[in-house]
Amino acid sequence: MTISVNSSFSSASPETYWGHFEEISGYNSQLNVAERLWAAWYAWMRNDVLATGIMSFAMHELVYFGRSLPWILIDTLGFFNNYKIQSSKIPSLKEQWDCAKFVLLSHFTVELPQIWLFHPMAQFFGLSTSVPFPSVWTMVYQIAIFFVMEDTWHYFSHRALHWGPLYKAIHKIHHQYSAPFGMAAEYASPIEVMILGFGTVGSPILWCAATGDLHVFTMYVWIVLRLFQAIDAHSGYEFPWSLHHFLPFWAGADHHDLHHEKFVGNYSSSFRWWDYLLDTEYSPEAIKRRRECKASIGAKKAQ
Ligand SMILES: [Zn+2]
Ligand SMILES: [Zn+2]
Repeated sequence: MTISVNSSFSSASPETYWGHFEEISGYNSQLNVAERLWAAWYAWMRNDVLATGIMSFAMHELVYFGRSLPWILIDTLGFFNNYKIQSSKIPSLKEQWDCAKFVLLSHFTVELPQIWLFHPMAQFFGLSTSVPFPSVWTMVYQIAIFFVMEDTWHYFSHRALHWGPLYKAIHKIHHQYSAPFGMAAEYASPIEVMILGFGTVGSPILWCAATGDLHVFTMYVWIVLRLFQAIDAHSGYEFPWSLHHFLPFWAGADHHDLHHEKFVGNYSSSFRWWDYLLDTEYSPEAIKRRRECKASIGAKKAQ
């Protein structure tokens, strides 16, 4: 940390988290509240590996289940049945509970050790944990680059996972739900979690290795957005206000739900361009386009 904290002489109980917060606030009026909370956390923990590890794991659980909860309520209470893509396949509470147990087990056994290794790896590649945080503009352009990098990795590795032997050995578990729901986003084999997780964690790490410019806070914002993207893509709902109506290259549930229903095509995570360019799109328009193309080739051959 670049903030120096001398907690032993503070009158405001420096052994507590809020004692550190008060002290840092007293000496660093230029920092905003989030930056003070962040600096106090590292000062109080006195162990950066533990501080990043606990914060990363807690954030992941909070965001994963916090974002899944509205979708569970929507499924259970039937608020938006009109917008459900596969309207006859609404997941039961039992199905959702079984999925939650599997995902929790995977988080505590497979993901926890990997999240714990994150800080030493981040330090090795030079990620910063100091305050102040980077500017909003820096975070925005870096996160946009991570979205593009992750989507590219996801497209090719996910497409490879649909190759027969890999599908049977690894990816079949994720396809247990032919009509997905939010929480099913991380319902997958531990090997798949590692392969596809590499796109999410490896993209920023690669970026930092190349440029030497990345803050752990930017990484957190990116992971939160990526979790929202993955959970919403599995939600099973397509709304008139879904993002792809405004950003036509955004994938969303409209794109990924069909992948679960049909098992072929639509391999990307966030964007539609790889499926479009490599002709693996699965949508009524793409099927029509392919049919017309075949018909015109057939007509030319017949001439
Ligand atoms: Zn798949
Ligand atoms: Zn999926």
